[in-house]
Amino acid sequence: MELLKEIKTNKTNQTRIGEVDFDHLEFGKFVSDHMLVCDYASGDWQQPAILPFADISLSPATLALHYGQTVFEGMKAFRMHDGRINIFRIEKHYDRFVRSLDRMCMAVPPKDIFMDGLRELVKLDKAWVPGQPGAALYLRPFIYASEARFGVKISDQYRFIIFTGPVPELYANPIKVKVENKYIRAAKGGTGFAKCGGNYGGAYYPTKLAREQGYEQVLWTDARENKFIEESGMMNVMFVINDTLVTAPLSDSILDGVTRDSLLTIAADLGYTTEERPVSVEELEKAFHEKTITEAFGAGTAAVVAPVRTIHINGRDYHLPQYSAVSLLNQLKQKLENIRAGLEEDVYNWNTIV
Ligand SMILES: *Cc1c(COP(=O)(O)O)cnc(C)c1O
Repeated sequence: MELLKEIKTNKTNQTRIGEVDFDHLEFGKFVSDHMLVCDYASGDWQQPAILPFADISLSPATLALHYGQTVFEGMKAFRMHDGRINIFRIEKHYDRFVRSLDRMCMAVPPKDIFMDGLRELVKLDKAWVPGQPGAALYLRPFIYASEARFGVKISDQYRFIIFTGPVPELYANPIKVKVENKYIRAAKGGTGFAKCGGNYGGAYYPTKLAREQGYEQVLWTDARENKFIEESGMMNVMFVINDTLVTAPLSDSILDGVTRDSLLTIAADLGYTTEERPVSVEELEKAFHEKTITEAFGAGTAAVVAPVRTIHINGRDYHLPQYSAVSLLNQLKQKLENIRAGLEEDVYNWNTIV
């Protein structure tokens, strides 16, 4: 295998950027002009190419459609206050991509194709990176089993694609969540730590039921005993109890969130005690009774933090106090945004300037 495969670029001569109203973006609605495509076949990655964004055609026998070998990443590029563009924590996303792919027996694209591909793509479509504070260019690298063969098998062919699209800041109104103790998201020994499509498909039904009951998301509990809190919807979940930032420890049923890691790091730097340890449903109930719980929020790339206002536990709604600018979740969000925007020094080396 050659060390570095040059990325061929075929630029579009018809930009669609005029169709986008950057002051009224919607999450997931717009895709930028170009995408990167790289195929794996005959035991090797082929030459990557940047092409105009377009539909792909698939055989109905494509393995990914039947047996679920699909893995994705979700990350963002930001326009900094001085106009430069920065991809946030590219290395950590690549490392997680590799872990997800290994778990799903899928081919791993070389790091330089991932890194250079993202950089080239973002550079080419830099006009699509919004300048509005909090808005970003969402980057979606993903891989699927592309071999057309309908017997159950590990695919011998894969397609790696990266596309991007501008997304607004999500102003998250505090949400109501429900502790789920019938359905589970991920089991010990399962694929919960991998960012694979199947984890999402299986979560829709319990989430739909929760919505019908008036809750926006479920708080997933462990699959064995339904005793410990794992994640909130498709985000990691964090609590402030006794002025300490607490979140479940990483395990094979918890997604190693880049936001989770970033917020833990920032909180410790701000002088807060942080704890990665099991948080039981019982502990939450007790903390509500004793009024020692002051914050609860989801943590993920899309919204950074998603504040929770109500947690439903065993037939009862417990309410969090109102959030303000000095709530830890808002302090953490602000500091993270300042680092990304270049307003505060990037002491952790999280920014990759393209
Ligand atoms: C992507 C994801 C997260 C959040 O990870 P980030 O890297 O912070 O975006 C959390 N939980 C699940 C299940 C996820 O798929």
